[in-house]
Amino acid sequence: MDRTSYINELKNTKTGSAWDFIVIGGGATGLGIAVDAATRGYKTVLLEQADFSKATSSRSTKLVHGGVRYLQQGDVALVREALRERGYLRRNAPHLVKNQRFVIGNYLWWEKPFYTIGLTVYDLLAGRRALGRSLPMSKKSVIKHIPQIEQQGLKGGVSYQDGQFDDSRLAINLVQTAVEHGAAVVNYAGVTNLTKEGGKVTGVVVEDKLGGGTFQLKGKCVINATGIFVDDIIKMDNPVQKPMVRPSQGVHVVVDGSFLDSDDAIMVPKTSDGRVMFGVPWHNRVILGTTDTPVKEFVMEPKPLDEEVDFILETAGRYLVKKPQRKDVLCVFAGLRPLAAPTKHSEETKTKEISRSHKLFASESGLVTITGGKWTTYRIMAEETVNLAEKTNGMKHKPCKTKHLKVHGYQANPDRSNHLYIYGSDQEHILQLQKNNPEYAQKLHPDLEFTAAEVVWAVREEMALTVDDVLARRVRALYMDAKASIEMAPLVASIMAKELNKDKSWEEEQVREYRSIAQNYFLT
Ligand SMILES: Cc1cc2nc3c(=O)[nH]c(=O)nc-3n(C[C@H](O)[C@H](O)[C@H](O)COP(=O)(O)OP(=O)(O)OC[C@H]3O[C@@H](n4cnc5c(N)ncnc54)[C@H](O)[C@@H]3O)c2cc1C
Repeated sequence: MDRTSYINELKNTKTGSAWDFIVIGGGATGLGIAVDAATRGYKTVLLEQADFSKATSSRSTKLVHGGVRYLQQGDVALVREALRERGYLRRNAPHLVKNQRFVIGNYLWWEKPFYTIGLTVYDLLAGRRALGRSLPMSKKSVIKHIPQIEQQGLKGGVSYQDGQFDDSRLAINLVQTAVEHGAAVVNYAGVTNLTKEGGKVTGVVVEDKLGGGTFQLKGKCVINATGIFVDDIIKMDNPVQKPMVRPSQGVHVVVDGSFLDSDDAIMVPKTSDGRVMFGVPWHNRVILGTTDTPVKEFVMEPKPLDEEVDFILETAGRYLVKKPQRKDVLCVFAGLRPLAAPTKHSEETKTKEISRSHKLFASESGLVTITGGKWTTYRIMAEETVNLAEKTNGMKHKPCKTKHLKVHGYQANPDRSNHLYIYGSDQEHILQLQKNNPEYAQKLHPDLEFTAAEVVWAVREEMALTVDDVLARRVRALYMDAKASIEMAPLVASIMAKELNKDKSWEEEQVREYRSIAQNYFLT
């Protein structure tokens, strides 16, 4: 997991010696493809222009789910596929994915039978991979499970089971899994162009965003897994191709765990704008969201709109005794969904009605593009992508190996009372760091549990190169308490500087940069 040696190796690769798979994009989709291709035995390289999961893949609702909402929309095939994948992910990464009970409070007489029937269908679609049964609940039982639920007008409820996870931690573990199977995986390496011969894509031009300079790589299959940015890569292949993606923004608000006061989550099946809303416990906080707002800008750091925040707080306030206010917001974050661009006749289609299934196709040049889908379905998306790339490029089919592949860090029954559980089997190495050097056992902030050892580990073993890489995606401090994370930044920068052999001006620049990113994650 040493970026410098990877990048030097890539720069020095003779242009004649080709990779089997060049994967562009280090989010859920690209990482899944790198794991799939590498485990089939293909010589694989993945290039990420920023940090792994920096874009959409660290900004999800953190659910491993079939999508109750898609069932409401009648998309049975999508739900069935996601429920199957939910089962595989729960089994292959139990240190990061856990069962999560959701409670739907019912305020109208027909809701209890209606949602009980709907959610029983959800369970049946999951078949033997169901995580538990959906059950009708009395009013008393709803209050017992969610003490903070609004009781006025409450008639009863329904509970169902889904999965819950940590998105950027899974991304890092997928990087490690791919590397363990021989892939070269590099962050801060952006693809700036494709190389072509006789109309066929033969490789990529890569910019080293940290060390500077560009270099070329040759590959038999080039995969475009760049999320909302897929059109940029498609344009490098075919400048007149119509855009296929239009982003839709989803915002989440994070508040203290006391707003739910429960290990169970709540689900509001129909908000005033016809969406579903979740309140999900996560690392002693509650994530509330989300929204669905069409946007025109394709950016790495999307900005939540005031009206989106107000909508979430107002909706949550209707269903909770303690009404969250703007002052209670510990973090607010936005992510962009790569939804299908509207064709002329569907120009007015609301983004919440556009299909969430993935889109996969091969261009005449051999470039294979995949976008859309969900974190939950990243594995099957990868399997289909590698199958299509093999076919498109005339390679002999090798069977997929990921259905039963344990993700790096696999640990069957983690003790979730210790915040280090997310490291799974790596936890012992972090404890060892603390034991060997008592300085590393020191907390980075009085209000958060993270220690210096986790920063050292992130740099040495998880390819963290900036303060943002550490605080946003290796530990989730930014998402748990954005203001506290800014206060931690100088200490994190100084620990990183020692590890990376950087000087004081690097530290100061890192803190400045982090502050400017993190200030968009809290309300002023
Ligand atoms: C608000 C919201 C909530 C969601 N909640 C859930 C949920 O609860 N459960 C679930 O299963 N799914 C959820 N999803 C969906 C899920 O997050 C996405 O499907 C998934 O993260 C998409 O991953 P990706 O790899 O396709 O895209 P991204 O994560 O955006 O990754 C694409 C990567 O490509 C890189 N890239 C772009 N251009 C280049 C280039 N030229 N060179 C190199 N790299 C490049 C980018 O930097 C980026 O890191 C949610 C999505 C949103 C927006």
